Amino acid sequence: MEVFKFIALSGSLVSAASPNNHSYSNILSIPQAEWVALNNTVGGRLQGVRPFEIACFSRFENRPLTPSPFNCNAVQAGYASPTFRSPHFNAYMMPHWETCQTSHQGCLLDDTNPKNPAAFNISNDCSQGSISPFYIDVRTERDVQSAFAFSARTGVPLSIKNSGHDYKGRSSSRGSLSLWTFNMKSMSYNKQFVPQGCNVSYNAVTVGAGASWQDVYAFADAHNLTIVGGYHQTVGASGGWLMGGGHSILSPALGLGVDRVVEIKIVTPDGQSRVANDCHNSDLFWALRGGGGGTFGVVLDLESTHKVEPQLSLQVASLSFNGTSTNLRQFYGLAINNSVKWGSEGWGGHIQGTALIYVTPNLSLDEARESMKPMSNFILSQNGTIVLETLTWYPFFLKYVVAAEAAVGSLTILGSRLVPKANFDTDSGKLQLLDFMMSLVPQSLPYVPVVPPVNFNFTEGSTSVTPAWRSALWHFGFHTSWEFNSSISDIQTQYAMVHNVTKTLRELTPGSGSYFNEGDVYELDHENTFWGPNYSQLLKIKRKYDPQSLLDCWQCVGWKGSDDARYCTRQVLRIVRGHRGSKPIPKWPFVLGHRDGAT
Ligand SMILES: Cc1cc2nc3c(=O)[nH]c(=O)nc-3n(C[C@H](O)[C@H](O)[C@H](O)COP(=O)(O)OP(=O)(O)OC[C@H]3O[C@@H](n4cnc5c(N)ncnc54)[C@H](O)[C@@H]3O)c2cc1C
Repeated sequence: MEVFKFIALSGSLVSAASPNNHSYSNILSIPQAEWVALNNTVGGRLQGVRPFEIACFSRFENRPLTPSPFNCNAVQAGYASPTFRSPHFNAYMMPHWETCQTSHQGCLLDDTNPKNPAAFNISNDCSQGSISPFYIDVRTERDVQSAFAFSARTGVPLSIKNSGHDYKGRSSSRGSLSLWTFNMKSMSYNKQFVPQGCNVSYNAVTVGAGASWQDVYAFADAHNLTIVGGYHQTVGASGGWLMGGGHSILSPALGLGVDRVVEIKIVTPDGQSRVANDCHNSDLFWALRGGGGGTFGVVLDLESTHKVEPQLSLQVASLSFNGTSTNLRQFYGLAINNSVKWGSEGWGGHIQGTALIYVTPNLSLDEARESMKPMSNFILSQNGTIVLETLTWYPFFLKYVVAAEAAVGSLTILGSRLVPKANFDTDSGKLQLLDFMMSLVPQSLPYVPVVPPVNFNFTEGSTSVTPAWRSALWHFGFHTSWEFNSSISDIQTQYAMVHNVTKTLRELTPGSGSYFNEGDVYELDHENTFWGPNYSQLLKIKRKYDPQSLLDCWQCVGWKGSDDARYCTRQVLRIVRGHRGSKPIPKWPFVLGHRDGAT
């Protein structure tokens, strides 16, 4: 059995683990009899695993290794492809979460040219980094129950991975036993789905823990349905996306993922398999509707059931132009000035650099043309491109999302903030926002998912996401990245930049919050920022269902803190802040100003 061969080989990892890496040396010192017993209870689906890129390297954990050119070629060819990465347990969409960033331990290739030999030359050691050395390919609730019992008995920490999209690396964890839910792909449709114990029915689709959004969109389209989901083909439909909130460009009209889920099946860390809905375990259901993945339990096969709509006709506006320092200001100014009106018409979408792509199910094509006129006139004046057309969701997704596939494999980090409608209500508020956007331009063109559920009639108190979602018009993002061979100091600078831009956004939007799944890795006051007044209740529910704190993830509900060795990936900014060094955080060159006049 592969896993036992791996345990024998892992002796070198134990000796390589530093004394501080308590949790890492812990997992590798577990007696073989424990692993045998675990493997027997999970149907032989316990696996030992090494890093995704190992085939390219000639050293692993400071020992010589024979590279495998054939396997290395395959990894190099698929390095930037989400569909290549997602079926590999040991691959993450942002590969820095495969490594220990504080010590440069990992096996990164050059994402701009994966064949660049400088990344894997003879002097470069590949190491296990943050890849769990063992995982269970989860298929049944018994697998999860066995893992919880194993963790309680041995002290080995657990982690949960689905697609590996998480922007904060919460699905990788050094020295953990990982539960990989990716292969649970079931999907079913029920016109009259009745949540267990309830007496209402919904037109609903039920999806397995590992189903990706592209799978689900194809399934919904084949049944002539529209379902609200993420803007990327390999993001999972039932995992972190859903439990963190789940935005879609249809959310302004149809709500967040958490607004549309009607039932979740989950195994909680106390070993119980539970159905959570409005009538059954309703406290847990509320917590799962925004409290975040990875902390309340493991969502399982036939797991989350989502309300669907009959097939909707969507008006699509896709506009782009060549940007300059002067016309960019006009473009962003127009987007800001029209946002309240567009929000009331159900438009949602993305403003990305010099392009805008919006959809709405609430207008006819003529109304959509009229609504977009101020922006279309501007784009025409810049000799840009305008497409206004009517599509249903899946053809839209294939044409505009898959065709312009967001590249993965880069070392990218993100910060974000929900921008309230109040910022768009006054000239000074709009001007501040515009100045802020322009201040970003030299570093990175602004990225604004226009996804808050402004037009959706939600039920007060039904979800645990921050209430800031309900009063926001924009979810403003900022990202940056570094190179495979960047120094720790360069990486610190990038984290500090995102941290400081987010801080400026916070000052611009007092009292608002951020999206748990896409916030700054080093978000200050994260409980309040991600959940606001809901946090204390979420914590009570976490303690009720996970009394031994078997699940822990970065800035999740009940997080134990950053000192644990499993977070070796994320202690970089702590060094910047002076906990372990003295490097000052660079200031973002933006000062909040007040100017009069229209934007
Ligand atoms: C390219 C890209 C595009 C994105 N687009 C969108 C978008 O359009 N809308 C949006 O809202 N977000 C988007 N995101 C963010 C996305 O929602 C988060 O990254 C989310 O955490 C992904 O969840 P996952 O389960 O697919 O990923 P993973 O990284 O596998 O898991 C994320 C978290 O969920 C937990 N988890 C996963 N499965 C389970 C389970 N079965 N039970 C319990 N916990 C589980 C993990 O432990 C981890 O904490 C995008 C991210 C990327 C990288």
